[in-house]
Amino acid sequence: MTIIKSIRATAVMTAMALASPTFAQENAPRQVLFSNVNIFDGVSETLIENGSVLVEGNLIKTVSADAIDAPDAFPVDGEGRTLMPGMIDMHSHLCLRDGIPWARTDYDQMLAGGYTALVLIDYLDQGFTTTRDTGCNVLGITKGVNNGIIPGPRIFPSGGVISQTGGHGDIGFFNDMPGTVDDLEKHGWSYIADGVTEARRAARHNFRGGATQIKVMAGGGVASEFDPIHMTQMSVEEMEAVVEVARDYGSYVTVHAYHDRSVNRAIDAGVRVIEHNFLVSEDTIIRMKEEGVALSAQAVVALEVFDPAAVEQITFFSPDQKAKAVQVNSGATQMFEWALKHDLLIVTGGDMFGPDHGRQAENLIWFNKSANDNYLTLKTATSNAAEVLSWSGEMNKYKDGPLGVIEEGAYADIILVNGNPLEDLDAVLRQNVDFVMKDGLVYKNWLPSENAPAFSPARMDREAYVSR
Ligand SMILES: [Zn+2]
Repeated sequence: MTIIKSIRATAVMTAMALASPTFAQENAPRQVLFSNVNIFDGVSETLIENGSVLVEGNLIKTVSADAIDAPDAFPVDGEGRTLMPGMIDMHSHLCLRDGIPWARTDYDQMLAGGYTALVLIDYLDQGFTTTRDTGCNVLGITKGVNNGIIPGPRIFPSGGVISQTGGHGDIGFFNDMPGTVDDLEKHGWSYIADGVTEARRAARHNFRGGATQIKVMAGGGVASEFDPIHMTQMSVEEMEAVVEVARDYGSYVTVHAYHDRSVNRAIDAGVRVIEHNFLVSEDTIIRMKEEGVALSAQAVVALEVFDPAAVEQITFFSPDQKAKAVQVNSGATQMFEWALKHDLLIVTGGDMFGPDHGRQAENLIWFNKSANDNYLTLKTATSNAAEVLSWSGEMNKYKDGPLGVIEEGAYADIILVNGNPLEDLDAVLRQNVDFVMKDGLVYKNWLPSENAPAFSPARMDREAYVSR
């Protein structure tokens, strides 16, 4: 608590220091002027060379290829770094640690909250200023972030995932009777919903708590015990009921699905985003394109973590789960090829937890092994991601301006990176992210101290908190 408080206090103090160079200007709108930066704006294939960006309050006021005259602004000399939108991770499980065992055995809600708070700081440290959580008990912690109590990226929470009995969200025990509330459900991470009424109630309960979209388990998954990959989950009527609830809130549904039958049933029901998708045919990809269904791609998990040799090293997977992981890996490269060929709307999502929390940016590196297109890859974590986030409609809590772009009126979610990510994506890896601003506040500053107040909120020692 003391640590969190001091982080928060430091963040506020830094923001104030940036805001008010002198007491005389205390009431003037606080401004920060970035100069000597090359700008990647999230929607252009080339950089604006040696540009300037003026931030006022929590929004971007001016973007220019020339110098900006703002004598009262706090100056930040970018020294030739690339200024770009804070990145967006579209598939997070912010409270998930060490896989399912964490929820079953030594789970404690307070500990989970503390752990999640550290994960949030880690997202900022990596340069992610927004994330869409695709299943975890983060509705409360999202309010904490939005209210400025807890430092963290903007969160678009799904609340608990909606799963049928024996589905990807069912982590009960073999001898459980129907209706048993399992550990995930008890801790607010999932709903076991059978039938239209239960599915509808679960969706409404999520939105009631502040969910911005709904996540449904529509097919077999890797890290669960009772659902082989090939199975299709949730009836079309159940999914239609959830979609109807989402539409009533002006929002949308995303599903966990790997293969044709799951994905097509979900699209039949009106689902707008497919998570994973790694075992579908080209025909399904074509349908997704035709019907404007987006792909949320988890490249690191599919290509690296689920590589057959790597899977053998996963200590918390059973032999069955390992076989499922290898199966997913086998389809991933081909699926990416088709998705790129047919120009799907693609967003990037880490889907990481446990020891892999903290590697979200590597997802871009792995995706680009298929895409071989730095610009497209960067869009998956900036403007493309923001487009899908906008589908949350009125449920979106961040309505002052657009996300994922550097333009006049957009949120001041800005990072400075070493190098040009349009040429070398290593520029977006944590060690090259020197400056992170979210909502006009500074959360990381590795610039030389004469450029701006030295501030690096709890540069976390990853090992210290990802281990038990
Ligand atoms: Zn996931």
